[in-house]
Amino acid sequence: MTRLSETLLSGYDRSLDLDGFSGSRLAERLSVISEIGLTAEGGSNRPGYSKAEQKAKDLVCGWMREAGLAVRQDGAGNCFGRLAGGQDHLPVILCGSHIDTVPNGGHFDGVLGVLLALETVEMWRATGFTPQRPYEIGIFSEEEGSSFNAGLIGSSAVIGAPVIGELDKIVDHEGRSFAAAVAEVGLSLAGFPAARRDLSEIAAFVEVHIEQGLVLEAHGLPVGIVNGICGIVGLEMTVTGIPGHAGTTPMGYRRDALVAASRMVAAISELPKQVSDTAVATVGQLRVFPNGSNVIPGKVRFSLDIRDVADEPLERLVSRIVQTATGIAEAANVEHTWTRTFTEPAVAVDERLKTRQADALREINLAAFELPSGAGHDAMIIGAHVPMAMFFVRSKDGISHNPCEFSTLADCATSARALARFLAKLVSDTAD
Ligand SMILES: [Zn+2]
Repeated sequence: MTRLSETLLSGYDRSLDLDGFSGSRLAERLSVISEIGLTAEGGSNRPGYSKAEQKAKDLVCGWMREAGLAVRQDGAGNCFGRLAGGQDHLPVILCGSHIDTVPNGGHFDGVLGVLLALETVEMWRATGFTPQRPYEIGIFSEEEGSSFNAGLIGSSAVIGAPVIGELDKIVDHEGRSFAAAVAEVGLSLAGFPAARRDLSEIAAFVEVHIEQGLVLEAHGLPVGIVNGICGIVGLEMTVTGIPGHAGTTPMGYRRDALVAASRMVAAISELPKQVSDTAVATVGQLRVFPNGSNVIPGKVRFSLDIRDVADEPLERLVSRIVQTATGIAEAANVEHTWTRTFTEPAVAVDERLKTRQADALREINLAAFELPSGAGHDAMIIGAHVPMAMFFVRSKDGISHNPCEFSTLADCATSARALARFLAKLVSDTAD
């Protein structure tokens, strides 16, 4: 099998090695980590709290030590590498992501954010830059939730989220308790609450992540500024008509729940663009009762996943969807009920940080293009409590959570330069 580093370096223009960035160093590091948990399909398999995830963390910790950082692992398995600042008592600039993967996942999701946080230190060292504020790299445990249905555990422990008090109740997909699973990588439940940090000691959190979508590619841009992490509302809608014989009930006498539900699904897909450019709504699950080929459907239940980058337009979209569905139900003479299954508020990015991200991009002659994050990230958890900024790196064909996930080394190089310049501004600003 061709090593990832060879694929990355083939066709890489070494004149992109600017500001102390090394394409061959990053390619080699991405490649070595991709080989931990390598699958037959060429993907990576490093579930949270597995030995593979721990091995990847240990490797990066070794590189952090070589780069002169003070390295520690907390009780939730999160790893931090700290570079002292000239004014080391000041709150830290924290930058990082995760290193676990979904089953048979890709080689960039999470890992790229961790390695670019480290590449920043390498670039500063190469160019003789010294930070005034302390700078830390963070590797957060079990982001994907592929071992346990609960993801984002490491970052949740850092902020002391309520879920950390309930870890004794969760089991993994094989029925093992959380405590037994984490014991295999040398952790204990008691360590998780202790991983909570004093958030006043973190001045800002920055995460670089692959986009996992098609927007940057469509705009021909290597990197973009995330302008918010979408809030999510889950709904379950039930449409109730009257079941009947498919042969003996004339069309005019039917109260077909599936026909009404289909009109709702089609109408709902037209609504997000009426509310904002960033809103999305998806019907992903549809259950038909009694689900017989010769029976008029009497009941249909379907799920809705509704997202937008701010809570106000999101709630407006939810109301419009419910109104529209109710109108369709009345016209079709069927019953319509709905319940809200969950609400995850949107997380705003810090406007001052966003301005500085734009400055960093313009310094290297790139457009300061903004796009929302439709998926959750560690930045969503930490960013609810401290000023947060994210960069997205272009994903080839928008593919993610898949062995084909790819970002070119040229795009990684450009992102590394934008990140190092942006972080340099943050660690140089000593005003509180
Ligand atoms: Zn990720």
